Amino acid sequence: MQSRATDAGIARMRVLIVEDSEDEALLLTHELRRAANDVSWKRVDSAEALRAALRDNEWDLVISDHAMPRFSSEDAYDLVRDCGKDIPFIIYSGHINEHAALTAMAKGVHDFVEKGNWRRLLPVVRRELKTVAQARARERAENRLHRLSNYDQLTGLPNRRLFYEQANLLLEECGAEPGATLLFLDVDRFMRINNTFGYAVGDLLVRQVGARLQTAVGARGVVTRMGRDDFAVLDAAAKTPQQARALAERVMQAFTQPFTIDGQEFFLTLSIGVCCFPRDGEDVGRLLVNAENAMFLAKRAGRNNFQVYVRDMNSASGERLEMETGLRHAVSRGELTLHYQPSVELASGAITAVEALVRWSHPTRGMIPPDKFIPLADETGLISEIGKWVLFEACAQTRRWHDAGIAPLKVSVNVSAVQFRAGDLTAVVAAALARTGLPPSCLDLEITETVLMQEADATIATLAALKAMGVCVSVDDFGTGYSSLAYLKRFPIDTLKIDKSFVRDVTRDSHNAAIVRTVIALAKSLGLESIAEGVETREQIDFLRAEGCDRLQGYYFSKPLPAAALQQFMATAGSIAGGAIP
Ligand code: C2E
Ligand code: MG
Ligand code: MG
Repeated sequence: MQSRATDAGIARMRVLIVEDSEDEALLLTHELRRAANDVSWKRVDSAEALRAALRDNEWDLVISDHAMPRFSSEDAYDLVRDCGKDIPFIIYSGHINEHAALTAMAKGVHDFVEKGNWRRLLPVVRRELKTVAQARARERAENRLHRLSNYDQLTGLPNRRLFYEQANLLLEECGAEPGATLLFLDVDRFMRINNTFGYAVGDLLVRQVGARLQTAVGARGVVTRMGRDDFAVLDAAAKTPQQARALAERVMQAFTQPFTIDGQEFFLTLSIGVCCFPRDGEDVGRLLVNAENAMFLAKRAGRNNFQVYVRDMNSASGERLEMETGLRHAVSRGELTLHYQPSVELASGAITAVEALVRWSHPTRGMIPPDKFIPLADETGLISEIGKWVLFEACAQTRRWHDAGIAPLKVSVNVSAVQFRAGDLTAVVAAALARTGLPPSCLDLEITETVLMQEADATIATLAALKAMGVCVSVDDFGTGYSSLAYLKRFPIDTLKIDKSFVRDVTRDSHNAAIVRTVIALAKSLGLESIAEGVETREQIDFLRAEGCDRLQGYYFSKPLPAAALQQFMATAGSIAGGAIP
């Protein structure tokens, strides 16, 4: 229990008294009780005893006589200073002249009080204790701040900021003998653990994962937590590509043993992206981006494996640079254009929506499909400008169609992961709607499954904001990512868009047929709309109709077309409603 503070506000004082007389010490402590409620003290009168007391206990204050038979205040002060604990030192003596007192204070002694001068001693003691308390509080705050700003609260590992700092240092240091390895690691299907066992268990596991990683890479490797279940490792001792692979293998090996929480075993696997410095990037930022990309490849390759980063063919050469420069001007020079692909409601055969698909009409290379330049736009940040243009243009065109009497046509716009994460998506969408006057319910944003699964909380917040505006959200390329069903329920989405790779073989491949069937059933059970993309044949339509798919999109009905051509197509589309789907 905390004792009541005295008028000076000091509850407790631990004072070390350097004094040869026990009586003097008792007298002193009696007086000191007027400065603090709880005074604990010890008297010493030799160097050995002082040293032991300093070593074995914590003290708030040392009060020392000046001249003792076996000792002097000067010797005592030296010992106190040298113990490194920064304890205030007061000389309390009747036998010291002013000169000696001043010399002592010049050395660092805090004050000098004449013996028996209680009126002066108590304020001095209070002042010193207050200073000590303030210094300790400051030190605690500084330590806490240091921990908070440099370490991850959950794992105790260096945070991103400290990781960058330490990693940059390591990279600089390997100057003479270049080479280092950066791993980007993601725990496979971690969300399922959170969903099934709760976040508390998830957190405990993340902590154990961090510790195990640190053990696996050893003390010389720097480990950090990048996101919920993402980690990065930098090891300057793994210099060659062979050593990089060996490091990744060692980490994977470390995860073959289960983790245990409350007696329950958890087997976790990792998907790892491997980058070599300086080959795959000359700074930590670039290495992290490339290693993360390689990690996604590892996911795609079925998880529980590692992939070494390989430069994309078109990113290797000057071709990429040329593309990048060209892309920078594409918007301002009006080289981007949108094509629109209709989708058809299966029940009525009516065209109810179109998907806007961007194309780059390059001055010398002709029409470049989005797959060839959207990834580059993502990497370079140009996607922000391009994405804004696409959104605005798609809304403006659809509004024109509404005005021409084609209503209520809905338009779908693809949004890349980078756009989604940029943080300004809701503002950009709101601006496009406001400027064009398109009703929010006629705009649908397509995001991929992978976006959905990353940083779930931030994603849910963004989606909720879009929903609140009245905008619809579809999950594009559904089935290619790794959504868990329990997880899907948490997202405010409207439509699942079945990836065309499943639709393509749906009538020939029983596995794909099963996937398509399941996705349609899943959509139904979650109250979502299902749409199949890449529909090219009547057989596919028959299958999808039998399974109860809501909407279809694909070459069977129409390829993506320029706005004018699509309008013409829609003008004759009465025939679609009646005839295209018999
Ligand atoms: P996606 O959103 O899955 O778009 C569907 C793609 O499938 C389109 O390719 C479309 O032309 C193609 N497709 C449609 N019907 C059929 C069919 O019956 N058979 C086959 N084999 N293919 C069909 P596209 O236009 O080349 O777009 C490719 C991807 O580029 C899109 O995939 C989308 O992820 C991305 N993309 C397109 N426009 C944009 C955009 O404005 N912004 C962003 N961020 N990404 C875009
Ligand atoms: Mg799409
Ligand atoms: Mg798709």
